[in-house]
Amino acid sequence: ENTSNKIAAGEVVEKPASVVKELVENSIDAGATSISVDIKNGGISYIKITDNGSGMDEDDVEIAFERHATSKIKRAEDLDSVITMGFRGEALASIASVASVELMTKTAASTYGMYVHIRGGVFQDVRQTGCPVGTTFIIKDLFFNTPARYKFLKKDSTEAGYISDTISRIALGNPDISFKLTNGKTTLIHTPGNNDLKSVIYSIYGKELIKDLVAVEYADEKIKISGYVGKPEAARSNRNYQSLYINKRYVKSKMVSYSVEQAFTSILMKNRFPFFVLNIDINPVLVDANVHPAKTEVRFADESNLSRTIYMAVSNALTTGGS
Ligand code: ADP
Ligand code: MG
Repeated sequence: ENTSNKIAAGEVVEKPASVVKELVENSIDAGATSISVDIKNGGISYIKITDNGSGMDEDDVEIAFERHATSKIKRAEDLDSVITMGFRGEALASIASVASVELMTKTAASTYGMYVHIRGGVFQDVRQTGCPVGTTFIIKDLFFNTPARYKFLKKDSTEAGYISDTISRIALGNPDISFKLTNGKTTLIHTPGNNDLKSVIYSIYGKELIKDLVAVEYADEKIKISGYVGKPEAARSNRNYQSLYINKRYVKSKMVSYSVEQAFTSILMKNRFPFFVLNIDINPVLVDANVHPAKTEVRFADESNLSRTIYMAVSNALTTGGS
């Protein structure tokens, strides 16, 4: 059993940042409004994630580490909206197969919490404990039993950078949740969780960028676009400063980037990439679900129409609010 989990881990867990991504997404799914992540050695030796979400009761805990044990697919048709779910019921089993995982969790309805320690897929300890409502995961010694994987880890600061990028992306897509990332004693990210995207952009990119933002708002029956695009002063030399969320999930789309860049170029200048953070809400049926869940590149059913809509929304924003 643990062999298949380790194989699955090869797909789900590529580096410390993938562990952080999976666990933070679980915290969001559990309704957390505050999520904090502490790391040591770029997450290689230590990752701690604490949330104030629903927590798990004793029954949930028993199955949470089983492969394909997800509480999230209730009906077969839910599979159509695969874009909102990523891997289904594989993350915890996979992570626990290649690391030491401690879990402390409690629901509001339960009088006691649960503590679980599992290492390399083997349970070390399961017992009742006292703890606050919500969930804490402590991951230690990632890839201790998969030397080939361990060998490919980059240096601590590089892995810490990947984790920071991961949290930034998730935070920009969830302005209503407060995120905190600390590396030892250093706070790398702290967002307020006040549901104001501009505050999140401020927390992540600093105050320079804030004065160069233009709000984008558009809605019709099929699609809703909201967020910010940078003025020319905020343009960058690569696309690393472009964040796109389709139905709250971080994705990449060349089509969307091109559409924004076209609007930008036709009104402004060439050879630089606009900064943007855009949320697009669209019927999940119109988003291609055949894309591998680990890959972030998406495709859409009606590309040319969507492209025109984005072009229009951004052009309008830049013309009316542009200077
Ligand atoms: P999935 O997220 O696809 O359901 P996971 O392996 O990531 O699969 O998680 C397994 C299950 O463990 C989840 O379905 C959920 O019930 C439970 N779980 C994991 N993390 C948390 C958390 N932070 N708070 C509450 N429940 C959690
Ligand atoms: Mg999950």
